[in-house]
Amino acid sequence: MLSLVSCFRRYSKKSNLVKYLIEMPKDNTEHIELGQKQRIKIREKSKYYSPGIVNLQVLGNGANGGSSSIYLFSEQTRYLFNCGEGTQRLAHEHKTKLARMENIFLTRKTWDHFGGVSGLCLTLQDVGVPSLHLHGPAGIDRIFESSKKFVVLKNMNVVTPECNDGGFYEDSVMKVNYVPLKKVLKSEMTSERTGNEKTDMIFKDDTDYYGYENGIEGSSSNSSIEAKESFQVEADYEDTVMAYICKLQERPGALDIEKCVDRGVPPGPLLGQLKNGIDVELPNGLFVKARDVRAPAFPGSVFIFVDIPDESYLQSLIKCQRFKRHQKTAEKDDDRAVVVIHFSPPQMMENKLYKQWIDEFSASTLHLCVNEQNEFSGYFAAHRTQRQLNELDENVFPLLRERHPCLTNNEENFTKKMKIDEENDKFKYYHQLQILSTFHIRPAKGFDRSYEPCSNPEKVLEETILDEDSMKLISEFKEKIVKRSREERAKEFPKVITLGTGSCIPNKTRNVSANLVHISKDNCAILDCGEGTLGQLVRFYGQDGADDVLRKLSFIYISHLHADHHLGLINLLTRRRQVTSEKVLVIAPAQINMWLAFYNFRIEEIYSTFEVFPCSNLLAKRSHIEQDVKDELCNRLGLVDIKTCYVKHCPYSYGISFEMKNTLKNEHSEQETFKITYSGDTLPCDELVELGKNSDILIHEATMEDDLAKEARIKMHSTVSQAIDIGRQMNAKFVILTHFSQRYAKIPLLEKHDKNVAIAFDNMEVTLNDLPMMHLMYEPLKAMFSDHFRLLERKALKRKIRDEKKVEMNL
Ligand SMILES: [Zn+2]
Repeated sequence: MLSLVSCFRRYSKKSNLVKYLIEMPKDNTEHIELGQKQRIKIREKSKYYSPGIVNLQVLGNGANGGSSSIYLFSEQTRYLFNCGEGTQRLAHEHKTKLARMENIFLTRKTWDHFGGVSGLCLTLQDVGVPSLHLHGPAGIDRIFESSKKFVVLKNMNVVTPECNDGGFYEDSVMKVNYVPLKKVLKSEMTSERTGNEKTDMIFKDDTDYYGYENGIEGSSSNSSIEAKESFQVEADYEDTVMAYICKLQERPGALDIEKCVDRGVPPGPLLGQLKNGIDVELPNGLFVKARDVRAPAFPGSVFIFVDIPDESYLQSLIKCQRFKRHQKTAEKDDDRAVVVIHFSPPQMMENKLYKQWIDEFSASTLHLCVNEQNEFSGYFAAHRTQRQLNELDENVFPLLRERHPCLTNNEENFTKKMKIDEENDKFKYYHQLQILSTFHIRPAKGFDRSYEPCSNPEKVLEETILDEDSMKLISEFKEKIVKRSREERAKEFPKVITLGTGSCIPNKTRNVSANLVHISKDNCAILDCGEGTLGQLVRFYGQDGADDVLRKLSFIYISHLHADHHLGLINLLTRRRQVTSEKVLVIAPAQINMWLAFYNFRIEEIYSTFEVFPCSNLLAKRSHIEQDVKDELCNRLGLVDIKTCYVKHCPYSYGISFEMKNTLKNEHSEQETFKITYSGDTLPCDELVELGKNSDILIHEATMEDDLAKEARIKMHSTVSQAIDIGRQMNAKFVILTHFSQRYAKIPLLEKHDKNVAIAFDNMEVTLNDLPMMHLMYEPLKAMFSDHFRLLERKALKRKIRDEKKVEMNL
């Protein structure tokens, strides 16, 4: 199935750039060291004290292709239970403090539970977390090892402890007991995995994709690529899932000074001992017991996390004796679970046996579901920005179709509870969880909605209102443009939707790289898919619309193997499997096979969802395939032509160009075909210019502002002007700039604005008839984001002054 290509030859000689990279100063890690020192100090200090405040908070509620993730925090430390794609982005948007996070507990190791770990690790490293423990079912270590290739962790140690039955993790806050639950297959189901290829030959990939940033020689090009060592892999799944029974450490009650005085305890160290729970002997020979002079202790409440993927795990759950102790049958009141968090999917929540198991819990136990039955993903900022952009143009920036509980003003939606058991309506209600829904474990105040952003819908709506200046410029813009009807526009192809337009780490308004191109009515392609792409798709189209796109998807293109360009692939593939059994073509660097094979043979079967077609087979200059194979490929993809070239970024980085038929010929334009070129990540690249000659649309990265050209060169990216210039050299009709650095959360600074240049935003949809008016949007956009814009201008000015000073000093 996989046609692996292992030999590449690079033509470029060792450049001056490499020498320059070797000499350049390395990343500044001072703040990381400082953060780590502080963290270790706090940890030492709090080692012996049980915290007074412990809360559970929803960080990802599992809605609309988003992650399910629960954040547990105390004054001392923080924990995460599950970490799907986008967890880092949500934490950033909702200002969840991650600096004291040292333990992540995973209920499963599939990508929907693990997909956010890599991205989160980068953030944790940056805030100075010295080491991270990753707990979970057997095999967590392997998936972490494998994904490490895309995420470089130089300053943080990640440990994956063995989580056996009966084992536990313990610190001053709580004890977490591991409860592995095994899959029990019915006899007729035992052969369910046969039929797929069980073994494969895989080439080992030891490329350092980030080497160039650290000046490692040769790593900035596609050079020194030899035939790699190969090895045989066989399917070997570990199917265990993990439940966690957590118990807070008991917290001693406060010392009652009056009682101490009554018993004649003198001021001084004896008081301190009593406070710490130690009985003392007074100078007069009397004994004082600590429990007699202290308020009652805070109990160690019990809370449980459970995740049953499907029926085959039910027997293991039901038979497990360890839950019994925390259900109705508990010996002590304190042993009854105060809350059970269910990561189990909605269909399990409807399962009769599962409901019976839930019924075994006491009436006082609250059940919360963190799964796709929740309705809103929690990306408020994306909705807010889109609502503002929608004022400017409702076609180019359509309102996101994911339902929004505040913006749709639907109170019912927001307070909805779900009854799970009709016959037994005593207590089993499930709250509709929002981001930041909170459960107070200590003090025991229970469920609390007051932290949810939607608890104040007026405020959320208010933030989307634009000022008068912006509205004036918007109406001027609207007067200038030619309006087409919605129906007319719907027929126009190609249509480009920039789903993710930020680089490296996602921020509130820009997710990492992803572009959707509708080639025709029933055919589309995705160009790069960073972490959270599935969620972006669902937010833009709603679940049904997103499924429709996945069904029509003929290929997914991955430009290179940096994390921000491909970590969203597996979730796309597994979701797509639910709507079609047809394989999608993944056009990617052949080295991606190593990762996909690992996932397929160790974590879960995915080979039935895709075929890999190596980018190198489509090289315009050195094509590896025969013309008839190429024709067949174009036929399958509904294209006239498709080709790639090497670009100047990390090893195996490609640019792509493809042509499609003009489906509306004669009606609107005489042109036979349309051509789209996508740069991926690159320095200005001559080969790309050649590849994309006379493109109708060039989608080009523009990571840096112009005055950061030096930085762009080091990181092997382009500046805004360089990207525009490549478009000019290519004779591209239109250029869409994307992949903006984090610092342009909203809008990048342009020196001058060419008429054929558009700035991409997340959730922007354009056709060839929209593009001619995109340049007119720049002034209203500047006004809409004026605060942000002024900040950028100030920063640029500061840099300019600093640079001028440097020049003066050198003179
Ligand atoms: Zn990159």
